[in-house]
Amino acid sequence: MKELLYLQPVFKQMIWGGNRMAKEYGYQIPGDDTGECWAISAHPNGDGRILGGTYDGWTLSRLFAEHRELFGNSNEEVFPLLVKIIDARSDLSIQVHPDDSYAAKHENGALGKTECWYILDCDEDAVIVIGHNAKSKEDLRQMIEENRWEELIRVRPIKKGDFFQINPGTVHAIKAGTLILETQQSSDVTYRLYDYGRLQSGKPRELHIEKSIDVITCPHEEQNEGKAVFRQGDAATERLVSCGYYTVEKTELSGTAAFDTNGIYRLCSIIEGEGTVDGREVKKGDHFILPSGYGTYVLTGKMTFISSYAEEAAHE
Ligand code: ZN
Repeated sequence: MKELLYLQPVFKQMIWGGNRMAKEYGYQIPGDDTGECWAISAHPNGDGRILGGTYDGWTLSRLFAEHRELFGNSNEEVFPLLVKIIDARSDLSIQVHPDDSYAAKHENGALGKTECWYILDCDEDAVIVIGHNAKSKEDLRQMIEENRWEELIRVRPIKKGDFFQINPGTVHAIKAGTLILETQQSSDVTYRLYDYGRLQSGKPRELHIEKSIDVITCPHEEQNEGKAVFRQGDAATERLVSCGYYTVEKTELSGTAAFDTNGIYRLCSIIEGEGTVDGREVKKGDHFILPSGYGTYVLTGKMTFISSYAEEAAHE
């Protein structure tokens, strides 16, 4: 099928959200507390709809269920990936996600959550939380019980263009002043470890201390990915991560380049500039899927996009 599947984003209002996505991408956001744009999602908590074309108005979950041929005849039960943009006006809670086996057992068969972050933009002094300083589970429990958060969590400075892989069991938090593109497993299971004592409608949001302690990797393990760069026509593509659930790549195009889907469906988000895909205009803020059978495609323009594809074999 020679059609791009454009997605209608689903927005989520959050106590830490902002309004940058309206200014940055021209989105019709629901309020000044818009924290998340579920840009490519078939998750029941935000099932995106196809915009235009043969499947106009279909949800992505229905398309995945009924037209598996567009998705390389995937054997996955559900559409496996979810791409979000996150606008953190203030700090997100300090959290951790379970892996598949823990989530299957404790969260009614949900998927675990491996995620990764590309920093679209951030304040000059912005930081992020990744990892912790507890040496053992006992150490971790004690630090949590004694509220020694500053000692426990690892904070690091970030800049535009940085990339981080967050495996299950990794303590993490996006902090204020950060705009992120997140590629993740299609899961909405988050264990909140600490929420800075904030209130939502007069009440603190629920914490999940015991489940967090269960799943946090002790001691913390650093993720260091070697990045490969390859050129095709006027495009330079950098492989940001390949982890067994997804491969994520960043492509910078200045001119023309031809690619092939090679039987793999690919999720694309234009993060800078504009151009065309086989003559169809695409611009910053657009998200679409190239179906697996699409074949060759020619990109023109000056743009940067993040694209990803699911990896299935590694975790079956
Ligand atoms: Zn997370």
